[in-house]
Amino acid sequence: MTQTAHGVEFKQRLSHRRVPDQERALILANPGFGDYFTDHTAVIDYKVDATGTGGWAHARIEPYGPIYLDPSAAVLHYGQEIFEGLKAYRHSDGSIWTFRPEANAARLNRSARRLALPELPPAYFLGAIRELVRADRDWVPAGDGQALYLRPFMIATEAFLGVRPAREFSFRVIASPAGNYFGGEVKPISIWISREYARAGRGGTGAAKCGGNYAASLVAQQEAEANGCNQVLFLDPFNDNAIEELGGMNLFFVMMDGSLATPGLTGTILEGVTRMSVMQVAKDMGLKVVERQITLDEWRDGVESGQITEVFACGTAAVITPIGLLRDTFETIGHENALAGETTMAIREQLLSIQMGAVSDTHAWLTRLI
Ligand SMILES: *Cc1c(COP(=O)(O)O)cnc(C)c1O
Repeated sequence: MTQTAHGVEFKQRLSHRRVPDQERALILANPGFGDYFTDHTAVIDYKVDATGTGGWAHARIEPYGPIYLDPSAAVLHYGQEIFEGLKAYRHSDGSIWTFRPEANAARLNRSARRLALPELPPAYFLGAIRELVRADRDWVPAGDGQALYLRPFMIATEAFLGVRPAREFSFRVIASPAGNYFGGEVKPISIWISREYARAGRGGTGAAKCGGNYAASLVAQQEAEANGCNQVLFLDPFNDNAIEELGGMNLFFVMMDGSLATPGLTGTILEGVTRMSVMQVAKDMGLKVVERQITLDEWRDGVESGQITEVFACGTAAVITPIGLLRDTFETIGHENALAGETTMAIREQLLSIQMGAVSDTHAWLTRLI
């Protein structure tokens, strides 16, 4: 693959059937989450040759559309797949930026190692994002709380049913305009405690961002919804009193003394880029931040005694979302009509302001795309 002064060169095969301006404007006025996709996709292929050496090749931008895949492709049978999630933001001067992409590139490679997928050089990761956003720049919304959600992913495409790591892979990025994940204003959500199902186990894939973890979480999410809750809480697989995270978001607790606590990385929790950023933003605001075990008992007693004043979840898609109540069949902790907490909203506002370029980017978290 050719390397240019700017990184990797992507061949451009642009779409002749772009979504018309008027239709795109209607979509951007109310994009929802994950419902609409831009005109293009970025692709890079990987192949192991006869000598056993692998390499990335054929970096390209092509029209968005179905993937041609052999029915025996390994991803369809053994789930050899990983993904990432980040956003592109349109600043008020029209420039377009992304947030901590090097952290996503590094995490993609941690996930790749766990799923026996090839690592992708970070310059290719960033190149794919940059080229895709350039091709689809008109899709980056400018509205309040809006962004272009970017979904990089890697799949095993080799046609082969034997059980071993595949030798052919495809890395792709697709993009989808996004509004507020849970819709409308910032309302506290309700959480269902998953007692029966876990999303991770000892030595498992809990710390990797892979489709398989999500597949395993869906029945629990279904149970949550059947019980009138928005999201599901997974407990520590070794200790059903300790909490871990939601299906796709990390958790934070604001304490009465003003400090912030979040479950430590045990190897079964996914390390969110938002989690990392929230911890830094909170420190910058003068809050003490601790990573430690947090139990259901502490959550229950803390809410009752006032020791815990706010609880929130965080992730790229929904940014920061306050949690109103937590429940299972036997008990309810917190209140459905809880108000979004002051500290939660202050951290949310600061993080969004950094992402939107409204305050100075003191940690150099932003990368300019256009
Ligand atoms: C992606 C993800 C998160 C949040 O990660 P961010 O990098 O903040 O978006 C949290 N938990 C799980 C299980 C995830 O897959």
